[in-house]
Amino acid sequence: MLSSRISSIFKKMTYAAFRAGRNPEEIKLIAVTKSQPDDKIIEAADLGLRIFGENRVQEAKGKIERIKGFNIEWHMIGHLQTNKVKEAVKLFTLIHSLDSEKLAISINNEAEKINKVQRVLIQVKLSNEESKYGIEETKLDRLIQLCSNLKNIKVEGLMTIPPYFENPEDVRPYFRRLRELRDFLSNKYPFIKELSMGMSHDFEVAIEEGATMVRIGTALFGQRIK
Ligand SMILES: *Cc1c(COP(=O)(O)O)cnc(C)c1O
Repeated sequence: MLSSRISSIFKKMTYAAFRAGRNPEEIKLIAVTKSQPDDKIIEAADLGLRIFGENRVQEAKGKIERIKGFNIEWHMIGHLQTNKVKEAVKLFTLIHSLDSEKLAISINNEAEKINKVQRVLIQVKLSNEESKYGIEETKLDRLIQLCSNLKNIKVEGLMTIPPYFENPEDVRPYFRRLRELRDFLSNKYPFIKELSMGMSHDFEVAIEEGATMVRIGTALFGQRIK
């Protein structure tokens, strides 16, 4: 049942925070609803979940138009193509996947047209064998610099999708690395605060390492129907 899955996840999040001496209230749950039907999302909203994550603009658009009347926000967590930016800035409170200068400029332009300051996280690629998306560590400073000169985009932190390991302990070095990067960058750029990291099978490790947002799909809703 969804309600018991939700409470079990919040419990695990709380314990993981305590283990790391952190305040559980500083960690947000992003319910990842890609490939999930509307009624499951509505049920989750009824049960009190407030942030939903989608990875395709088109799919999200339909859901956001249909699911109205809740005080919820939608986050874009998947790779964003330039030709989808116009739509994305209309739909999403936070975009987790900024990964190039070109995309930053495009987001800024589209956000300016609708008088919005688009909140974003920068997706960082921490290893070569990792997913194809994300910016390399060495290019981070330049991208943040660029964004701080743009008026309609606001960088709030970092996001990563580490390689998959059976044992969540093997992911820990990646989460730790992202936190170290955040700590280092926040000296120069104090607005870099958030760490979006951790999914269904490794979110507890991510929280121990400092995650402020965990993105959880299957552990909440079960396997996705493709
Ligand atoms: C699908 C997805 C998730 C959630 O994955 P689960 O393993 O189902 O929790 C998290 N982040 C991103 C970027 C995703 O695409």
